[in-house]
Amino acid sequence: MKKTDRELGMLRDISRRDFIHGASLTALGLMLLAGCTPTSDVDIVPTGSVGYPPTRTGMRGSHPGSFETAHALARTGARFDNPADLPEEYDVVIVGAGISGLTAAYEYRKKFGPESRVLVLDNHDDFGGHAKRNEFHQGGDMRLSWGGTMNLEYQSFSDPVLEFLVELGIDVQQMSEVLDFHYGSDGPAIWFDADTYGRDVLVPGFSINSRNLDALDKIDLFPIGESARTALKGFYSSDTNVLEDMSATEKDDVMLRTSYSDFLSRHAGLPDEAVDLFKKATEGYWGVQAHSMSAAEAMSGWLPGAHLLGDEADRGAGLEESEVVAMFPDGNASIARLLVQSLIPEAAPGANAGNIATARFDYAQLNRPQASVRLRLDSTAVHVENADGGVAVTYVRGGTASRIRAKHCVLACYNAIIPHLCPELPDDQKEAQRYQVKHPMLVTNVLIRSGAGFERLGITGAYCPGRMHAEAYLIKGVNTAGYHEGDDVEGAVPVMLWGIVPPPRSDVPIHDQLRGARQVLLEMNFEDFEREARVVLDGLLGSTGFDAAEDILAITVNRWPHGYAYGYLDLWDPEWEDGQAPHEIARRPNGNITIANSDAAASAYTQAAIEEAFRAVNELS
Ligand SMILES: Cc1cc2nc3c(=O)[nH]c(=O)nc-3n(C[C@H](O)[C@H](O)[C@H](O)COP(=O)(O)OP(=O)(O)OC[C@H]3O[C@@H](n4cnc5c(N)ncnc54)[C@H](O)[C@@H]3O)c2cc1C
Repeated sequence: MKKTDRELGMLRDISRRDFIHGASLTALGLMLLAGCTPTSDVDIVPTGSVGYPPTRTGMRGSHPGSFETAHALARTGARFDNPADLPEEYDVVIVGAGISGLTAAYEYRKKFGPESRVLVLDNHDDFGGHAKRNEFHQGGDMRLSWGGTMNLEYQSFSDPVLEFLVELGIDVQQMSEVLDFHYGSDGPAIWFDADTYGRDVLVPGFSINSRNLDALDKIDLFPIGESARTALKGFYSSDTNVLEDMSATEKDDVMLRTSYSDFLSRHAGLPDEAVDLFKKATEGYWGVQAHSMSAAEAMSGWLPGAHLLGDEADRGAGLEESEVVAMFPDGNASIARLLVQSLIPEAAPGANAGNIATARFDYAQLNRPQASVRLRLDSTAVHVENADGGVAVTYVRGGTASRIRAKHCVLACYNAIIPHLCPELPDDQKEAQRYQVKHPMLVTNVLIRSGAGFERLGITGAYCPGRMHAEAYLIKGVNTAGYHEGDDVEGAVPVMLWGIVPPPRSDVPIHDQLRGARQVLLEMNFEDFEREARVVLDGLLGSTGFDAAEDILAITVNRWPHGYAYGYLDLWDPEWEDGQAPHEIARRPNGNITIANSDAAASAYTQAAIEEAFRAVNELS
């Protein structure tokens, strides 16, 4: 029987309440509407929330207080016409303190000298952008997880990026060797939930992504129709080349122009009920569901099907992936922290790549007036222009608009906001920037009292085809950079729930789908995510004695309405001529303003964010 909110623990006073939702937004909105102008804005306490940012729980990622100013600018055309001119001078103002913006600050000082005066602005109450540290203390010892970017897929990094990581002291090879976290592939499961499938059924030992030749009998346990189960077994076990009679062109057409879902239905003979099982399997890696991406893309990202192409390649779920990545226990937040430590050593004296995961940062040092590098959080840039041989940058902090002047500006934010920040850019450039609608994403970390339930079930993760978060993983085994979680299975441990909110309509162009999903994500309350997390963990672990009301210690929702950079999709984008792809047009420098960020590479990777920062700084003179 469906559990009530009380039974699920929704009313428990755990560390998760989104306590500023509402009140502070109203206050901020009123200030914006009133057109408040500042008296001064140099070094004030962050707005929004209290405490040490990495330990904040509740709604993180795009948290209340971070996006309202930008939305007022972009959606309702709010103007900030009378900013106060601050008596501060910089060589460069960098908009965005994600990995790209922080790398740009680092590279700028390398190119123009360590005395360069640098100001980094970010609209969030923590630095790192998608490189978001989630730090928990509610179960005793500190437990870490990541709220966004996590993998260093270093085997595909360019030499300059590898050298840059070495400069920061990062040994990716060594980190990869000690990594014992495998995205559930060392204890996979599929979990069918009662709301979608009529009853809760956990099937350990089955990975949706692998070919499952040794686990076909487990399909008998799936709570779906018998014909769908039979078809699934046939799909996984078949060796028939389903495209054998086609010409190379016809094959290309199928692989590049047919969605993965349609491929399964038309060429692998799966009925809808079986096709639906794969719908969410593409979300984590691609940020879209299987019907929005081509068969070729899905199969290149670990979805099964290559065995039907006369191709021996049968890639196992995640196994290969985990062999080639390096990870920090807070994901790539450790890179952001190393960069901040290098730029502002007072923020974390003594911190280095060997202990960065456990270092505590002093946020009061980030924006000191006398420092050559300043990092100003809770600050949203609203206008950037070439002016007087340099640039003028207006930003809003705490409802107050201020203007600063500098020689240069690097826009390491999202391309989608740039047309609103820089109306002076050429129209074709602004049009190209608007093309890049990021994928909305969701990473929810739930600290549970003990990982023993997972141990008892013999699983380390589960694919949840019927739920909002498609995947659930026990976060253990990333003991790098000074962090050791210990071997005690009874200790508190984070569970990462990962997925996307589906677009309200999937029969519209992809950009509209992404915009629609973004709006849904923004309109959801913390309690919506909390309830979802509780239902999933109750269903998944309930049989082991786990009590969602008692055993959930904290919840952190990392909501990313602007998640993965849009990297073009076979089904939706043409082949662009060299130099004519939207991201290439979008990133053109304009006077003293250059453009970094992973959008500039149309690639949702840390290495792209770093490389684009290199380019953007190199373009400045
Ligand atoms: C859930 C998730 C998982 C990911 N996993 C991986 C992974 O495992 N491996 C990988 O390589 N990549 C991953 N990525 C991709 C990730 O985007 C990149 O790795 C990288 O972190 C992007 O850095 P960035 O600096 O370009 O952008 P961001 O991290 O988005 O930083 C840009 C910053 O600029 C701020 N900003 C925007 N507008 C303004 C404004 N007007 N004023 C002030 N500040 C502004 C933004 O709020 C943000 O803080 C993941 C992304 C997401 C969302």
